[in-house]
Amino acid sequence: MTSPLPVVRSTLALRQQVAAWRAAGLSIGFVPTMGALHEGHLSLVCAAKERCQRVVASLFVNPRQFAPHEDFERYPRDEAGDSALLASAGCDLLYAPERAAMYPDGFATNVIVADVSAPLEGEFRPHFFGGVATVVTKLLMQALPDTAFFGEKDYQQLLVIKRLARDLDIPVEIVGCPTIREADGLAMSSRNAYLSADERRIAARLNMVLHDAIKAMRAGAAAEAAEREAESHLIAAGFSGVDYVAVRDAATLGPLRDLNTPARILAAAWLGKTRLIDNIAL
Ligand code: AMP
Repeated sequence: MTSPLPVVRSTLALRQQVAAWRAAGLSIGFVPTMGALHEGHLSLVCAAKERCQRVVASLFVNPRQFAPHEDFERYPRDEAGDSALLASAGCDLLYAPERAAMYPDGFATNVIVADVSAPLEGEFRPHFFGGVATVVTKLLMQALPDTAFFGEKDYQQLLVIKRLARDLDIPVEIVGCPTIREADGLAMSSRNAYLSADERRIAARLNMVLHDAIKAMRAGAAAEAAEREAESHLIAAGFSGVDYVAVRDAATLGPLRDLNTPARILAAAWLGKTRLIDNIAL
């Protein structure tokens, strides 16, 4: 049996442990999460262990990245289960701050990353990247790790975080890690737990449709035609709505001007009340 994972809840206790490791010459990797952990999260812990001598994971369901009508209240929470999974993956410390410690009365600062936050998720969830950028800036400044690990599953979020670390001179290397998927291609996500058996079956189509769109483009289809075709396939497969399917420049998420530059196809679609996102490289 793995021994229980030490947990700290204050910035002071977190900083003391990180400072002690650093004084001992150890490098520190950091994996921020909102919990309800799955193999996708644990792959980030493994990547951190490969590159760093100590690994800290954080667990905080960040209220500022949910709009009032979204799923903050019902977001799955299981600190004991998460802690056991992190320990078995070789994590060294869990940072699980209380809401009042993260956002004390009078908290007044927002981190807004322009450009890369604006399209796609930024259009459909206008509150989202402000909440993410603010909490990730706080977490990075609290933990002061050498390297922080984020999933390509949330590709636009990864770009936003790289940009804020660069723009604000936060001395942390941001590393993106590949998306971990179920056997049928569905990207692992804490929100997959919301899906009924029927919805779960349909959900696998999201990734397949993105692969089909890439095949169509390789066979000569224009990006816009491939996007529209993918959207109608999703609706035909049983998705209740499609926010977007978009082929974009992989570095800026702006329009793809040249088929020789790295590109990404990204999508967000609804199954009942559950919103799924996915993306793959072209
Ligand atoms: P979350 O708990 O959903 O906020 O995710 C925490 C971190 O795990 C983020 O960096 C996500 O991009 C990453 N992540 C979530 N799902 C996956 C996945 N299926 N594969 C790889 N990374 C993931």
